[in-house]
Amino acid sequence: MKGMMQHRPLLISNILEYAAEAHAKAEIISVRTEGDIHRQTYPQTLRRVYQLANALQGLGVQLGDRVATLAWNGYRHFELYYAISGQGAVCHTINPRLSAEQLIYIVNHAEDKLIFVDTTFVPILQAVRSELPADLRFVIMTDRAHMPENTLDALCYEELLVDQPESFDWPEFDENTAAGLCYTSGTTGNPKGALYSNRSTVLHAMMVGLIMGQSIPEEARVLPVVPLFHVNAWGIPYASPLLGHSLVMPGGALDGENLFKLMDQENVFSAWGVPTVWMGLLGEIQKQGRKPSGFSDVVVGGSAAPRKMIETFEKMGVNVGHAWGMTEMSPIGTHGNMPKWVKDLPFDQMVDVKAKQGRRAFGVQLKIIDDNGQRVAHDGKAVGELYVRGNTIVSGYFNNPEASAKAVDGDGWFGTGDIASIDQNGILTIQDRSKDLIKSGGEWISSIDLENVAMAHPGIAACAAIAMPHPKWDERPVLVAVAAGADKPALDDIHTHMSEHFAKWQLPDDVIWVEALPLTATGKVSKLTLRQQFADYQLPDLR
Ligand code: AMP
Repeated sequence: MKGMMQHRPLLISNILEYAAEAHAKAEIISVRTEGDIHRQTYPQTLRRVYQLANALQGLGVQLGDRVATLAWNGYRHFELYYAISGQGAVCHTINPRLSAEQLIYIVNHAEDKLIFVDTTFVPILQAVRSELPADLRFVIMTDRAHMPENTLDALCYEELLVDQPESFDWPEFDENTAAGLCYTSGTTGNPKGALYSNRSTVLHAMMVGLIMGQSIPEEARVLPVVPLFHVNAWGIPYASPLLGHSLVMPGGALDGENLFKLMDQENVFSAWGVPTVWMGLLGEIQKQGRKPSGFSDVVVGGSAAPRKMIETFEKMGVNVGHAWGMTEMSPIGTHGNMPKWVKDLPFDQMVDVKAKQGRRAFGVQLKIIDDNGQRVAHDGKAVGELYVRGNTIVSGYFNNPEASAKAVDGDGWFGTGDIASIDQNGILTIQDRSKDLIKSGGEWISSIDLENVAMAHPGIAACAAIAMPHPKWDERPVLVAVAAGADKPALDDIHTHMSEHFAKWQLPDDVIWVEALPLTATGKVSKLTLRQQFADYQLPDLR
């Protein structure tokens, strides 16, 4: 027997209409490329989204067309999210940090019709213009007064909006209609496109909303440092409007000093981003001897949050939520909101739990598989590859039958490529990316564990553990590290510091000092680059 309830499509356009009505006072506050800070409420935003939607129709955008963005976090980028997806087109966010080769590949692969670009990134497109489709059109996201000279024959964003009606009838379509496209950074081979639907995006927004609602009050200000050009800024542009948060959009100034200033000035309550960003902010907090006013909550994800970072934030009264996810998961998989019994633990034990990747979001199923393809117990000990399943997880990749055929197993589970364990309380620990695990003498060593402990050494500011080939042991761990001060600690000293947590054979064979660690387009430490950089390196006992 079927239930007798209405079935309304879950559409992205509903989110902003709701926010404009229910949270009319909340604002989007943006650091603009024009150099000032801009503010507008959700009702004002909705009116501009209507104008933009009309303009897009005028430019011939149709259901299913891909419309790309190459932009920082700001209100115009937010408007594009809603105007494009609201009319059934696909918002293709492009990461400006990609190589020219990858950019050319994805614009051609996505068959974008239009690209909306911030003034900052105009040179990137000009440099590759000849390799992009001839009929592609460009819109620069600024007003006439700030339009840069360009060879793109580009339209002006604000001019597109002028004189457009401040109303628009959103078309009603199937909730499974594609809404967003984000390519994975792809460390090998070509990038692959995760194609989100209206339904998956709305469900993900509600899922993230549940998580946010536990620690962020209505009317609080939320700062997505995580870019709108990478996995929809973890869903914040969809979840925060539901909860009545004001959004503080940082534009392009993401260094510690600028972030501190913005957070302090705008009284940001909660800020979200990858660990490298928080390293910068923590440096500035240390310099100033205080945290930004109102700063109470930080979400760290994208790569493992170092234990030391969690400890430092928690000591200054900033609640840390450690989240894990993937582009293919919209991206939230697990989150670090902890039950009361964890908060009540002695400080060090509480930090230990927060260094894990937290519990699954409702709607995301997790399973761990051993080498024989058997499910292992969630006992905190058994380790294997993590598989995920749910309404916010890809079933395949855009226009890529080969990768799609391998995306999920026979029961619809997506293999994450992460090696993990889950304990009796449902708390996930990511041990490593499977390709980053270090295999020594038939035993695995977690690079994340090595990094966490090494980074707690006062002489080490940042580090990455990578495997180096060894004829006898297969691989041996080596630390590539950035010194915290002028004095670089000796390897013996680092071993003494680490030996409390590791067996002797697990300790790194060497430390290589560098000025800075290479980062990927999404701000994570690039172990691939490190492995290439040190391809000719020889371990001390082989020299
Ligand atoms: P991406 O699709 O670029 O967002 O990368 C997803 C991958 O980043 C995951 O499969 C993990 O390997 C890694 N990752 C994301 N969040 C975390 C975390 N909190 N701890 C450890 N690894 C993470």
